[in-house]
Amino acid sequence: MRMRLRLSFVEKRPVSMRRSRRFFMRNRLSFTFYLFLLVSFSFTPLALTDETKEIKDAAVEITNGTAEVQAATAEIKIRPQTEIKPVAVETNNKTDHGDREVGDVTIHNYGIQAIFINSNVTVNGGTISGELTNNNNATQAKTNEESEETPPRKPTGHPSAPPASKPEKPNKFDETIKDATKEEGLFTVYTKEDKVYWEIKPEQLNKEYLLSGVLATGIGEGWVKPGAYVSDTVISFTKTNGNIQLVERNLRFLSSDPTEQDAVKKNYGESIAATFPTDVTNPETSSCLLEMSKFILTDYFQLSTLLAGYGMDRANSYIEQTQVFPANVVTRIRFAFRSGGRSGAISVPDNRSLQLTLMMDVQELKENHDFTPRLADSRVGHFVEAHIDFADDERNTQFVRYITKWDIRKASPELELSPPVKPIVFWLENTIPEKYRDPIRRGILEWNKAFRKIGVEDPIVVNDQPADADWDVSDIRYNTIHWNTSHNMEYSAVSQWVANPRTGEIFNGGFLIESEDIRGLLNVRRVNEPDRVEMLKNRLSPQLPEDPQKTVCEHGQGLLDHAVYALTVMAAREGIGNISAELKDDFIDQYLFARACHEFGHVLGFRHNFKGSTMLTLDQLHDKAITSEKSIVASVMEYAPVNFAPEGVEQGHYFEPTIGPYDYLAVEYAYKEIKPAASETEQSLLNAIAEQAEMPELVYGTEEDLYSGGGVGLDPLCNTYDLGNDPLAFAKQQAQIAFDTIPKLPNLVREGDNYTMVRLGFNYLLGYYYDSAVFALKYLGGQYFHRVKKGGPLDSLPLEPVSAVKQREALDFITSKIFSDELFEVNADLLNMLAAEKWNHWGSRGSGISTDYSLVNVVSNLYDIILYQLYSPTTIRRILDAESRRRSEAVNFTVPELFETLNEGIWAEVYAANREAIANNTYSNRKPFLSTYRRTLQRQHLKRLIEIMLEPPYGMPEDARTQAWRSLRKLEKDIGLIVEQCEDKDILDDYSFDHLAESQAKIRRALDARLSVRVDFN
Ligand SMILES: [Zn+2]
Repeated sequence: MRMRLRLSFVEKRPVSMRRSRRFFMRNRLSFTFYLFLLVSFSFTPLALTDETKEIKDAAVEITNGTAEVQAATAEIKIRPQTEIKPVAVETNNKTDHGDREVGDVTIHNYGIQAIFINSNVTVNGGTISGELTNNNNATQAKTNEESEETPPRKPTGHPSAPPASKPEKPNKFDETIKDATKEEGLFTVYTKEDKVYWEIKPEQLNKEYLLSGVLATGIGEGWVKPGAYVSDTVISFTKTNGNIQLVERNLRFLSSDPTEQDAVKKNYGESIAATFPTDVTNPETSSCLLEMSKFILTDYFQLSTLLAGYGMDRANSYIEQTQVFPANVVTRIRFAFRSGGRSGAISVPDNRSLQLTLMMDVQELKENHDFTPRLADSRVGHFVEAHIDFADDERNTQFVRYITKWDIRKASPELELSPPVKPIVFWLENTIPEKYRDPIRRGILEWNKAFRKIGVEDPIVVNDQPADADWDVSDIRYNTIHWNTSHNMEYSAVSQWVANPRTGEIFNGGFLIESEDIRGLLNVRRVNEPDRVEMLKNRLSPQLPEDPQKTVCEHGQGLLDHAVYALTVMAAREGIGNISAELKDDFIDQYLFARACHEFGHVLGFRHNFKGSTMLTLDQLHDKAITSEKSIVASVMEYAPVNFAPEGVEQGHYFEPTIGPYDYLAVEYAYKEIKPAASETEQSLLNAIAEQAEMPELVYGTEEDLYSGGGVGLDPLCNTYDLGNDPLAFAKQQAQIAFDTIPKLPNLVREGDNYTMVRLGFNYLLGYYYDSAVFALKYLGGQYFHRVKKGGPLDSLPLEPVSAVKQREALDFITSKIFSDELFEVNADLLNMLAAEKWNHWGSRGSGISTDYSLVNVVSNLYDIILYQLYSPTTIRRILDAESRRRSEAVNFTVPELFETLNEGIWAEVYAANREAIANNTYSNRKPFLSTYRRTLQRQHLKRLIEIMLEPPYGMPEDARTQAWRSLRKLEKDIGLIVEQCEDKDILDDYSFDHLAESQAKIRRALDARLSVRVDFN
């Protein structure tokens, strides 16, 4: 499963279900360890020596009362052996040891083992049941076979036990299933009132099953929406210690060397999800009857972690339906949750109570003998299922990485183009509005083109779910495209699938689209106002998700964001009423098609390719003759922004019109049937496919390349939301479009409407203007990272430093455009339109944001983030490192050059030419020499330089400290000259003069300060 789930209410940090489970598992282990110590030191364990085996006949005094008597042996507190006192013996013929309720299940799911009291264990001089003393399964089985009358899990017969005198009792199995409804399938399931029993046949023990959960209803918020996968785990029913445990299998470690397999088992354990007693067995088949409802009605899937502040309400949770099929059992569960009411969902009438429905599926994990796992290659982006195999000492990694893929094969391998053995059917949920189905369907089917190229004809089929379908779209047997109506959009769209962790074979998948995704497009006002400062910060310091199993796809929200931006620009240019319905329909059609292509690419097993955008030049992007054939990017797995034409250029495709050349390669690597001739190997043939990805048009770069070890990514060609083979040129174009459009924003307001659209549009365009800095910043100290192997087609090395020319061009763009205050020379009326819409009711978005738009504040924060990146330890280190990596000293870009260029750009006004110009102008506090934005920028710059000199951040190279000292000395001198020039003549306005004089004083103090002195310059 690949998806990210969020805690929906209080905690907004993304968290994956599987990750949270792992975290939880660690806690559980810790607790168990603690418990073990407690038992070891506080009580002497009951040793099963020959003598103590007789305990079943002797009496045992258990001293700690009923509440402490627990089903698990280790948890029962028993006095040391020496304190066991013989008391009156109650043997089988006197006490019914079989009266423990079926399904006294120990659920291992809450950190603490939740214990159900064993009614057979009595205290204070009473008896204990067999599981305390008899761990001999073989004996137990024999006992069960020998006598149908003997209740299961009794102590083995003591020689003195008089079976002849045992009273006739009804068969426990028959008694339990009496009046129950019976359904036969993968398991025989009995339902009796609110209890559900599963019969596990002896041959089903230790077999592997896939346990998965999919939400069938949601709450309209966060990730808690119908169709969302919550977990998948490989489990087994394992008989041990007189019980049946539901075990989560450990598939990460193995050895294909049979002699080593025991060693692996000893070192890597499994996890227990639940423990069931085996005291009710079918006398005819020896199958065990497990009261599964006790396990099912726990929060095993940890839904409460999606609902911060809520706990499961067991009393109001119940099983709605169990469907038994030959290959699986589907249980529909209605879960209730409760909170204290302080926080919670706004989508329910009373936030103290909410309900969710989960479809739990258990299916046998069958080995598909026709499916051949395929090893991954780092040059092509496929998801992998990785495990460690200790057997092969020669391999250069312990990991075996199989790509995830569907079982798609030709029905007639001899044919050049053959239908598939079995097409993969995807269902469009019948709740998807009719008008949106077609582009979604076409987006999915578009991938058939790539399969056709490798000889498989139309392996992907898309059907509409019938309006009167009697099956649930959350039933994991169906591959479904879900439609979520949500008032609070979380992901726009997200894909998900389930793969066999042993082989990588995908056997279920689909994706979800939120209805607001389209409605947000149609009406920009329905989109939340993004926090541009946070967005820029995240762009410059991206993080890989903690759990590598989870791929975070931000394409859904990102594409919507860019589409809204494009519509904003179009409406501002043309006037909001002048965009034709045809254009809008075409835009939405292209948008949904591209979205479906991307999401379905994940379903096929493909990762993001953030280098896909480098295929064409900026000029080629609007040439439909090219893009109709090759698309606008090499891969729909790219995060492509809207391909928006600058003014004066005829608009081409807004979004990807087809899958790209790299996508064909990804399909070929994963799905082409490989038949090596005598002189070939499968590996050599796969290598021949993968090495094509070293060619410029087919290059691949993904999350690991984008987030290269802290700070902004290393490779300026590996970006999200850029287009063309020169991201710096794209950055300039993007900034220019924003710059040109901002003055036109009043066109967004219709007669009779309020001015919210202007504020939203301004926020978008401001964001895009500064976002273009990200592309430029990556050139400074940047290196191109090529995923290549020795002997590849271009024989290139993996790292290639960016040329000094390109770094200078990037720095010039930042100082002349990003740090320019020209952007704010706009009509005052426009700035007075930037009011937020204000409502005060549940779900109102306007109440939490400031009524006015504090531009100075926002821009100051944006400057701070960009300056931090320019002078970050990562940037400085990369520039220093690259100096020795270039083949020619003449093309070096150096740290002093960085400091000098920034000084000259940020403090341009104090240098000689501008000093001379001062005399020819007049300034006032209303028309200052240095604008608010320039003064803000210069203060932020000074703060950064002084910090580097006196308190450098961790990891800052010493050379940076020296250069900061040098820069400050020079600035002190240059600022001093202008202050001196203007001091007595009252030439400058108060703002500018005082700012310069104070800056000079700050620099002097900093330069005089000893290194250990902390100077506060804020
Ligand atoms: Zn994605």
